[in-house]
This record gives sequence, C-alpha cells and structure tokens, in this order.
Amino acid sequence: METLPDGLVVHAGGCHCRRVRFEVDAPASIVVSQCNCSICAKSGYLGLLVPAERFRLLRGEEHLVEYRFNKGIARHLFCGVCGIKSFYVPRSHPTGVSVNARCLDEGSVVEMTVRSFDGQHWERYYTDGVAAEYPGTDS
Ligand SMILES: [Zn+2]
Repeated sequence: METLPDGLVVHAGGCHCRRVRFEVDAPASIVVSQCNCSICAKSGYLGLLVPAERFRLLRGEEHLVEYRFNKGIARHLFCGVCGIKSFYVPRSHPTGVSVNARCLDEGSVVEMTVRSFDGQHWERYYTDGVAAEYPGTDS
C-alpha cells in the first residue's frame, strides 16, 4: 500500500469482473455514507466521496454504462459486463467522484466508519443544489 505525503493512501478497487479498475487517494480510515435513496438502497452502495483529482480510472472506461434518473445530474456508472457500480459521479458533487467502498480491494482500509445519509430527502441537505465540501475526506 502506497502512502502519500499528505497522509492519504492509495486504495485500489474496481468492479467484479475486473474490467473496470481504479485508484483513489483517501485516508486509511475512511468515512462512508450509507444512503437510503432509491438507487443506493437497492444496490447496497457505500459511498466514499472524493474530489475528482483524487480518483484515477485505470481501465474499463469502454465498459461503463451510464444510467440517469430523476434530475439527470448524477451519472450512475456500472460495468456493462458484470453489472457492478464501483463508482459514480454524484448529484451533490458533480465535480467529484463517489467510490463504492464495497468495491475497494482488501488490505488498504484500516477502519471504515459508516454514516447514514437520508438521500430520500436529498433537497433538505443541499439547498443550493451542490455541496462545496467533501466530508470525511479532508483529514
Ligand atoms: Zn465488471
């Protein structure tokens, strides 16, 4: 596991069939959100939110299938071969990336704190439509 100068580590991850692979720079102890919105609840998604510059898609872009619903801002991306959504571009942070913590390889996450997020009532949290900060990623 590679450690970066600012205390972050490089986590590797990807989809089930390994066609989609990425790296994400985040603390070894991560805070992830368990959201109750219509799509996260059905897929069991655990979101690790990072600025886009901390995410690198290593391969598999050609296999990504995009799904949009509701406002059409969030870009839900899943592997067209195995169906796993290992990351996506969230509506709250369209310039960031949400990585599915369940899709990180074993070994780099020291601790994972799961926080509930009431995505069913999304508008209560993001009154101006977009959030500026990345909670849990700035330690
Ligand atoms: Zn796949």
